[in-house]
Amino acid sequence: SASEAPILEIADLTVTFGGVKAVTGVSSKIKPQELVAVVGPNGAGKSTLLNAISGLVRRQTVGDIRFAGQPLQELSPHRRAVAGIGRSFQNPPLVDRMSVVENVMAGAFGIRDYRVVDQLVRWRKVARSERARELQARTSLDFFGLGGIADTPTSEIAYAQRKLVDIARALMAEPKLLLLDEPTSGLGRSEHAAMADVLRRLMEPGTMTILMVEHHMDLVRDAATRVIGLQAGEVIADGATHDVLDSAEFQASLVGTKR
Ligand code: ADP
Ligand code: MG
Repeated sequence: SASEAPILEIADLTVTFGGVKAVTGVSSKIKPQELVAVVGPNGAGKSTLLNAISGLVRRQTVGDIRFAGQPLQELSPHRRAVAGIGRSFQNPPLVDRMSVVENVMAGAFGIRDYRVVDQLVRWRKVARSERARELQARTSLDFFGLGGIADTPTSEIAYAQRKLVDIARALMAEPKLLLLDEPTSGLGRSEHAAMADVLRRLMEPGTMTILMVEHHMDLVRDAATRVIGLQAGEVIADGATHDVLDSAEFQASLVGTKR
């Protein structure tokens, strides 16, 4: 409903690198269960916006970001992950020498270690939580249709699989907000529909909110409920997917964007 409290509230956000503003005065509210696509030309500030939300450019950031009402400014990336903000990367930072399932399990390490310290659990409990974590990782891989490569060395899997494994890894921490940076970059067009299906299935339980940077308008049309258009660090459009994508102003701004 329109009165529902936002899960993410961005107010007058500016990110500056060496005097150059990558994001300029961005304000936006994301409601629970929205799937918002951030679109715009290369260099528009899309990845920087995700980095500001996940806490990777804290020193360069001015403005207010609140997650479920909590100001994030003082929180490290780790604390933001613990709070429920997960993220995938354009180039998945997976460890090649580990198996796929080990990479996915690593997505929960920070979170679980945190709880372990909090509760001062004994080794038996740690061993049990380790098995539970592996089971959760395998279940997550099954969800992506990757159960068959769980024990494969990550160096041997295809790029399209790396993208999905990275999302599976991000899900291990059970985020309430998932930030995806170009989930289809490097994928063939035939793989876009599969990604759209993954996104729909992630949204299905009605507990997830996704903010996704995406270049490919077929996936945006297919999956996003709302679109934020960024150009030179500023919001130039924000509205329902079809309204934004079909507007003449937005079409003009897409010059230079891969489609
Ligand atoms: P997009 O993801 O929309 O392609 P980015 O957010 O990556 O754009 O970059 C926006 C601008 O900020 C670009 O001019 C880029 O060169 C600059 N930029 C991004 N990250 C950094 C950084 N860590 N240091 C310096 N400049 C950066
Ligand atoms: Mg980018």
